[in-house]
Amino acid sequence: MDIRELLRENIRTLAPYSTARDEYQGELGIYLDANENPYDNNYNRYPDPHQKNLKRRLAEIKGVPVEKIFIGNGSDEPIDLVFRLFCEPRRHNAVSIAPTYGMYKVAAAINDVQMREVQLEPGFTLDAEKLLAATDENTRLLFLCSPNNPSGNCFPKKEIEKVIRRFNGIVILDEAYIDFAGQPGFLSELDEYPNLVILQTLSKAWGMAGLRLGLAFAQPLIVDTLSRVKYPYNINVVTQKIVLEQLRRSPDAQIAEIVSERGRVLEGLAKNPVIRKIHPTDANFVLVEVDEPRTIYDRLIGAGIIVRDRSRIKGCEGCLRITIGTPEENDRLLETLKKL
Ligand SMILES: *Cc1c(COP(=O)(O)O)cnc(C)c1O
Repeated sequence: MDIRELLRENIRTLAPYSTARDEYQGELGIYLDANENPYDNNYNRYPDPHQKNLKRRLAEIKGVPVEKIFIGNGSDEPIDLVFRLFCEPRRHNAVSIAPTYGMYKVAAAINDVQMREVQLEPGFTLDAEKLLAATDENTRLLFLCSPNNPSGNCFPKKEIEKVIRRFNGIVILDEAYIDFAGQPGFLSELDEYPNLVILQTLSKAWGMAGLRLGLAFAQPLIVDTLSRVKYPYNINVVTQKIVLEQLRRSPDAQIAEIVSERGRVLEGLAKNPVIRKIHPTDANFVLVEVDEPRTIYDRLIGAGIIVRDRSRIKGCEGCLRITIGTPEENDRLLETLKKL
């Protein structure tokens, strides 16, 4: 498969915007090249458009070389960009599992690209053959999310592999919750799949949702092309600086605590007669089925606890999605549910 052939013609031939910082890259000097205000207030200079320091650090942490890392303004940015790179509006289409993260469909609609949703099997399991059968010669993108949101489960490695190997387009594998999963993701096998884009984020396990930093890992041709199409200064000075500081501490202790709390919350929920079904989870949330989701949702709101009502989504009838909180927050949740 020639990835270059999959790129839209206008993107393949794009002459990207060249920033002042692209033309001169020294460190010290008198900068009169970018029409900035010369008076230092920490924010008067444009950020590094290539996020070099941040990428070097992320390369160490993730064990992936910098040329295979794209940094976006949240995962939202690479999700939108893959449509702009690979899909000719109204001609190409994309395929995704359902139910899944809502942003793929929104990005498809904004880019005027048809999204074909393939319902997961009972128990939210993945049938690779069925997913592949929904593709045709105009399918450019295929979205998988593992652990999946809102169901919480990981898909078996073999099934994901089958999809990546057999699909003649780009597979976007969203691993936003992989740090909470019992199984490793696909990062260490990135080089085996030229058509794979892995999405990760600092919004969940790393606790930086407010800073907006999403990651895409792929072969250099895809990463280069994403970089040419993105807004030149997509990651601002403050985010680059604070993320670098935050990356000095390991998230492992918090991840371990959240995973342990997840076990405790699941046990508590299992004892509660209001809960009809607990869906297996590899993420920092759990999808539960109840008889009257809206009533339970409202009662929780009354107690100051906000969960996500997913009951109107096809395949999630009767379901609420509950994020794992601090031990105290989880106690409050379990106590409140007990009193219903
Ligand atoms: C939360 C989440 C993300 C993260 O999005 P950001 O824009 O990076 O905050 C990505 N994918 C899924 C499936 C999510 O649930």
